[in-house]
Amino acid sequence: MLDKKTLLSNIPSVDELLNDEGMKNLIQSYPRPLLVDSIRKFLNNYRQTIISSKDISDLHLDKEEIIQKISGLINKRMSKNLRNAINATGVVLHTNLGRACLNHEVMESIIKISSRYSNLEFDLEKGVRGSRYNHVEEILRYLTKAEAAMVVNNNAAAVMLVLNTIAQGGEVIVSRGQLVEIGGSFRIPDVMMQSGAKLVEVGTTNKTHWWDYESAINDDTKALMKVHTSNYRIIGFTEEVSSEELVALGRKKNLPVIEDLGSGMFIDLSKYGLPYEPTVMEAVASGMDIVTFSGDKMLGGPQAGIIVGKKQYIEQMKKNPLTRAFRIDKMTLAALEGTLRLYYDEEKAIKEIPVLRMLTEDNKEIRRRAEILYNRLVKTIGHRCVIAIEDDYSEVGGGSMPMYKIPTTVLSILPENISVNQLENKLRNNETPIIVRIYKDKVLLDMRTIWEDEFDIIEDALTKVLK
Ligand SMILES: *Cc1c(COP(=O)(O)O)cnc(C)c1O
Repeated sequence: MLDKKTLLSNIPSVDELLNDEGMKNLIQSYPRPLLVDSIRKFLNNYRQTIISSKDISDLHLDKEEIIQKISGLINKRMSKNLRNAINATGVVLHTNLGRACLNHEVMESIIKISSRYSNLEFDLEKGVRGSRYNHVEEILRYLTKAEAAMVVNNNAAAVMLVLNTIAQGGEVIVSRGQLVEIGGSFRIPDVMMQSGAKLVEVGTTNKTHWWDYESAINDDTKALMKVHTSNYRIIGFTEEVSSEELVALGRKKNLPVIEDLGSGMFIDLSKYGLPYEPTVMEAVASGMDIVTFSGDKMLGGPQAGIIVGKKQYIEQMKKNPLTRAFRIDKMTLAALEGTLRLYYDEEKAIKEIPVLRMLTEDNKEIRRRAEILYNRLVKTIGHRCVIAIEDDYSEVGGGSMPMYKIPTTVLSILPENISVNQLENKLRNNETPIIVRIYKDKVLLDMRTIWEDEFDIIEDALTKVLK
């Protein structure tokens, strides 16, 4: 067996590898600087592994093997990091998997707008500089009945901009029951601090009364704020101040009232069997001065933060220098305008916005798709696993409707030759990653969030993995 020293001195140099016959293919196929960099990276790693390993018996590689490893490395570097994945978890707004899938016409308008010039900031009637917000402001005003609207990169930025504009250097009163942490370290109290506003907590975790807000108001108070407890519920002996009551208090004290709705909805989905959640229209109608919400949660559009409300405040926000830092780009604007236009016709919105379609889809339709995939899989891999169609529950996700489970249909797979965890791992590492749920020693594919044109990929992957 070779000792460490010999093993290390046997490692070929970069030049030696570049001049090797076996490299010809790689040299022709890849940009030379990237290839050289990959060779260096690989050789450094290889050297370090040898130096730091106690047992080096398995570490010897001949030149051919080294070239093969370099080929693997450069291949990986050439393929895109950000790729499509199949969401078989049944979590419709899966934040880690990109939240809302966009409607295909909306997609086309992103391509169209961003691949050529556009009137992004050009007033075509007057021939002078225009505002990028105009493209969506009128639609938002029409849909929500708010006086004015603007949009930024995401709702966290929207909240920050609102507080910075309205309350920098002053105090904002919020109920203790509404100090939300959204995940990814977004906490309402932290955002407030960054915005320069001082948070004043009132009430208790389970109960806050209007007089709690009233008695905290002083000369430094700049606003009252309500935050939708998107991703948690306080149940039992509880009390919240209604939007109307809070608005009445704000009017009496001459203070603006802000509501962060989180997942803004334009349609009350309780008509379609889902739980009731306050809509943006209701928040505006309650008299809220400013309402903020996300573009890519229940609204089903691109990542964006939408601010609607009284013109005097929105005008101030448009002039805040932070607005430039939080500025929404043309691709997002194109997608947002397209998505908002779908809401002109509620029936169309429910059918054509993928998030709404998935959330309201009848379980009969989901079962129909489950049966199609089941029949295909039984034929190809039925002898290597136990497959069944089962009833289960999907989730909304994205910190929305946290308590609600939507009846769905899943395919359960119990593999025969590998463990359930191995199966999950291999599907996750498939060329198109397939993200599944594991429950009671079975892999579950929730048919709610799987697109029919993804069946081929799923069938191929399972055939490969279970062989
Ligand atoms: C999700 C959420 C946010 C953050 O919205 P993003 O669009 O993810 O930035 C803020 N507030 C509430 C209440 C939320 O639910």
